Amino acid sequence: MSTTALDKDAIQKKYKAERDKRLRPEGNAQYKRLVEFEDLAQDPHSPWVDRAPVTDHVTFAFIGGGFAGLVVGAQLKQAGIDDFRVIEKGGDFGGTWYWNRYPGAQCDTASMIYMPLLEETGHMPSEKYAHAPEIREHCQRIANQFGLYDNALFQTEVTDLEWDDANSCWVVRTSRGDAFTAKYIGMGTGPLHVAKLPGIAGIETFKGKSFHTSRWDYDYTGGDPLGAPLANLADKRIALIGTGATSVQCVPHLAKSAKQLLVFQRTPSSVDARNNGPIDPDWFKSIAEPGWQQRWFDNFVENQSQGMPQVDLVMDGWTEISRRIREKVMSLPPSDWTPENMMMAFEDADFEKMEEIRNRVDSIVDDGETAENLKAWYRQLCKRPCFHDAYLQAFNEPGTQLVDTDGKGVERITETGVVVNGKEYEVDCIIYASGFEVGSDYTARAGFDMTGRDGQKLSEYWANGMRTQHGIQVHGFPNAFIVQPSQAANLISNVPHNIVDHAKTIAAIVSHSEAAGHAQVDVTKEAEDAWVELILSGAGMMIGSPDCTPGYYNNEGKGLTETNKYAVGHPGGAGAYFKHIAAWRESGAFDGLTFR
Ligand code: NDP
Repeated sequence: MSTTALDKDAIQKKYKAERDKRLRPEGNAQYKRLVEFEDLAQDPHSPWVDRAPVTDHVTFAFIGGGFAGLVVGAQLKQAGIDDFRVIEKGGDFGGTWYWNRYPGAQCDTASMIYMPLLEETGHMPSEKYAHAPEIREHCQRIANQFGLYDNALFQTEVTDLEWDDANSCWVVRTSRGDAFTAKYIGMGTGPLHVAKLPGIAGIETFKGKSFHTSRWDYDYTGGDPLGAPLANLADKRIALIGTGATSVQCVPHLAKSAKQLLVFQRTPSSVDARNNGPIDPDWFKSIAEPGWQQRWFDNFVENQSQGMPQVDLVMDGWTEISRRIREKVMSLPPSDWTPENMMMAFEDADFEKMEEIRNRVDSIVDDGETAENLKAWYRQLCKRPCFHDAYLQAFNEPGTQLVDTDGKGVERITETGVVVNGKEYEVDCIIYASGFEVGSDYTARAGFDMTGRDGQKLSEYWANGMRTQHGIQVHGFPNAFIVQPSQAANLISNVPHNIVDHAKTIAAIVSHSEAAGHAQVDVTKEAEDAWVELILSGAGMMIGSPDCTPGYYNNEGKGLTETNKYAVGHPGGAGAYFKHIAAWRESGAFDGLTFR
């Protein structure tokens, strides 16, 4: 498709009109937390296990048993820290993959770089994009191999962390009455872990069954996370609210099994082809030379940056997006390589891709009106791009109907159903594919505050924006480490790569501190200020523009606020960050840290 054939002005006008009708003055406040509805917040995956409170001491306590806790634990165990403890609100390791067991769940980044520690565990992913049960099993594999179950506290939420300067340790208090101490603490609570519901009027009045996709109730639906038919739904009318990445993956399963499936849509996702397939063991053997996963991580980063990589090892949906943009820019004659022309080429590449994705809808969906309503009218990176080979097809199933709300969202929920445009759709069950809280303050989302040196609260210290060195350490909060992508490689990098790298950095600092017999390690104010200054010197994020249709990428249409403009990545991109931090770590000088 050539952009000359596209009426760019008309498309831009359409993008703006579609955005404007979705803007809601209440922004993030339109959502409710799942915990406000006690029944819906219950964990359906593990029975409750009683235990006595813990009051001991460990060398390292880590909050969160997802990829971050697992990988940091593995690194620290290898570095000789035997008494490592994970505190996790779920009933097992896995984080996202513990909670999200909805049918069809799978990763959207190639498994070869999405699943951490493949080389260390010797696991070969079975598919290019592995399904959730395999990823969860991999989490258990890591925990077993590195002995992380021994000391773990599950079904436990940290309520408070307090620095005890006299004894150089953190006091950790939890929802289970624990009050133990840890010389070091780490936090990897994940960017998307607080499930949310749409604040639809009457939501609490519904008398039928309802659940959030991260609390899938297989007792009710039948079937299992491996994809067995949801047999109990054969006589059920199901409403699914939401059409984001989760919905895209579970709709095909619901469409096959339910008597009737009504998909309530506020904004369509862009859904490109997935092209999943099994990984060939012979091919895997041929590439699995020592150091292969790091090489793949690095190659992904190279393909996401502005250079000209020789090869794309990963070849997933994300590197495809980057390649297309790069090729468009490189098609300009070198004399035209001005920032404006490059930006225009980037935009043109996007117009073409989105037109292709909209045409894909027409080529798959039989009903013309449904196809029209499933077309996404925004730039591809305005919302989370999706990839699936059965989602659009599901709307051809006789029992499946798209209920488009023209950007307004569901109007009301009654005792018996869902109301859109004054029409009530009676259903037996409402499933909320309504996502997770993003954009709130770190401590509000984590569910606890930290009190550092001299009684300083993290929420107060970060009131005007986060401050760290390397996205990992915060001045005045000694012996504490955060694993998250802001002020580091950034959220749109391959997050597991960021986690693996942070784990190496934390293990290097802790090993150095322990070997030298230090009691405390802190980052200096000067080093932190310099890092924050560097972070703020960049052009900001490629995503998050307020002219995009609202969503969590752009703070529900409000764009970056004064505080969340600090939650961006290294100005040179993920590649520059990883290069800097590797050199910093490997020099052994630990610039900017004080040990005592
Ligand atoms: P999202 O936040 O992406 O989607 C929530 C959906 O609920 C949106 O379609 C939203 O519409 C809709 N919604 C909200 N309020 C209303 C309302 N009042 N009426 C009707 N609809 C409403 O959540 P997901 O769980 O789908 O995905 C969250 C993120 O998790 C993804 O972006 C991705 O990063 C990650 N994820 C990754 C996967 C993977 O890697 N394979 C799979 C699944 C999730 P609107 O768009 O208008 O706001």
